[in-house]
Amino acid sequence: MALEQAPSTQVAVPVTVSGAQMAARDGSSVMGLEPGDREALRTLLLANNGEPERRACVTPAVARTVLEAAAGRAELRVSFPPEGPELVPARAGVDGALGRVAAAAFAAMLDGSWPRLKACPREPCGWAFYDRSSNASAIWCSMAVCGGRAKAIAYYRRRRAAGG
Ligand SMILES: [Zn+2]
Repeated sequence: MALEQAPSTQVAVPVTVSGAQMAARDGSSVMGLEPGDREALRTLLLANNGEPERRACVTPAVARTVLEAAAGRAELRVSFPPEGPELVPARAGVDGALGRVAAAAFAAMLDGSWPRLKACPREPCGWAFYDRSSNASAIWCSMAVCGGRAKAIAYYRRRRAAGG
């Protein structure tokens, strides 16, 4: 089970697992995940974006435990198809969906792409994306949307602080 990245020339591209978005722009349920599971995944992706504790409901250590529990509930099994080995959930439904996310995280940690898998820090975005920048320094899911808004807010605050 590999992470799928939309073909794009953009630096940050949304990430999907088996065609399902890992995060939703409107903060709604992601692939039917429980809020605790969703927050756990987001905590780890925010940590990859240099924000380990800022507003996470759980610590990265707890988040890892949540993912481990999810992998257990999904009953992940090792499979050896011709395309290459993968972890496949034996369970269907929500448990299986989160199991696919856990399997994708597992594969990304093994192949070295995990640090580039990030969550956008702008509220309420939280979009999961793959950082394709040459030095893995992308922060926002999109410079045109979240990056631009963050810059505008920072500019407004500086002007207010300066009395302008
Ligand atoms: Zn964003």
